[in-house]
Amino acid sequence: MGVSRRSLDTRLIHAGEIRPGIEGAVELPIFQSANFESVEGEAYHDIKYMRLGNSPNHAVLSAKLAALEGAEAALVAASGMAAITSVFHSLLSVGDHVIFQDCLYGGTYDYARREFARHGLTCDFVDGERPGSWGEALRPETRLIYVETITNPLVQVADLESVVAFAREHGLISVIDNTFASPVNFRPTELGFDLSLHSGTKYLNGHSDIVCGAVIGRAGLVARVKRMMNYLGGSLDAHACFLLHRGLKTLAVRVRQQNESALTLARALEAHPAVARVNYPGLPSNPGHERAARLFDGFGGMLSFELDGGAEAAKKFLDAVEIAIVAPSLGGVETLVTMPAATSHAGLTADERRQVGVADGLIRVSTGVEGAADLVADFEAALAAL
Ligand SMILES: *Cc1c(COP(=O)(O)O)cnc(C)c1O
Repeated sequence: MGVSRRSLDTRLIHAGEIRPGIEGAVELPIFQSANFESVEGEAYHDIKYMRLGNSPNHAVLSAKLAALEGAEAALVAASGMAAITSVFHSLLSVGDHVIFQDCLYGGTYDYARREFARHGLTCDFVDGERPGSWGEALRPETRLIYVETITNPLVQVADLESVVAFAREHGLISVIDNTFASPVNFRPTELGFDLSLHSGTKYLNGHSDIVCGAVIGRAGLVARVKRMMNYLGGSLDAHACFLLHRGLKTLAVRVRQQNESALTLARALEAHPAVARVNYPGLPSNPGHERAARLFDGFGGMLSFELDGGAEAAKKFLDAVEIAIVAPSLGGVETLVTMPAATSHAGLTADERRQVGVADGLIRVSTGVEGAADLVADFEAALAAL
């Protein structure tokens, strides 16, 4: 059976692996070597050197990630932001314009707003759920459209099918940050996206102990990003490659449990009298539910909710939870809770936050892999203490 026809679970374990294993090793050793012996006639970008991201550790990860999303090629990067900024610097030139979805990861948003102009780039932000409005942002110099699979912290699902169609109609490169969904729940290439980006720091590695990133998609585009990353120096260290490789093998079992626990938690919160609103695409009450059910294999481990008591109640809740840890970031095995108004969206004024729908009392949850019943009990005890 061809590798691409095997299930995602099997691909996670076996795709891209060197078989038979080196010296019979079941697991790939860490090639902790900055450089490798020269081969006659090799060009600069072919020299085996850690910055050029071409050790066996990098090669196996790239092949595995490409196989996971059913894509032609992939690369790993030193962080999600190294992947994202390398995409901009390799695929855009002075004068180019980008259409962004309006609620982006903070680092990406700040980079576009603060740094694009210095590189001669321009951009506009559009509502991902209103494809009819995107044409107004289009210019002759528009090159790329960039969205996120599930937004932070309101976990909205943009009209992703229309993004692909719009990009094709207007000859744009379509790029999606697929971090929140992970390849278990969504594979953008299958829908027609040109590039899928990940902060591997989150679900791919899954253990909150390294930062890393990935670019997955069309071979020609990935090769251009790789060339630029070789200059910028954003390659992933060999030891971090090993940890990402190890983390990836349990991606499917982790994410499926996180999907299930997040749904259990979302339902319990929705039924609770102290909770004003729950955002989770797995709830039939969610505006993105139908689309998420159609496009995704699971609704993900991320949810957010508002308490009747606003910011004060939210602070008390964070003080009272015992299992969940109050910390930023997401996608690991521990359940994490944050108040976006005080963390990711602290740079905005209260008015701006209201405009983007982030209430001061909003709590974001990254569901871990603890027992779901324990998580529900922990949240309910904290709500009872308000
Ligand atoms: C964390 C995150 C990033 C940035 O990734 P780093 O690994 O921290 O550089 C980008 N996009 C999304 C959606 C993220 O959650």
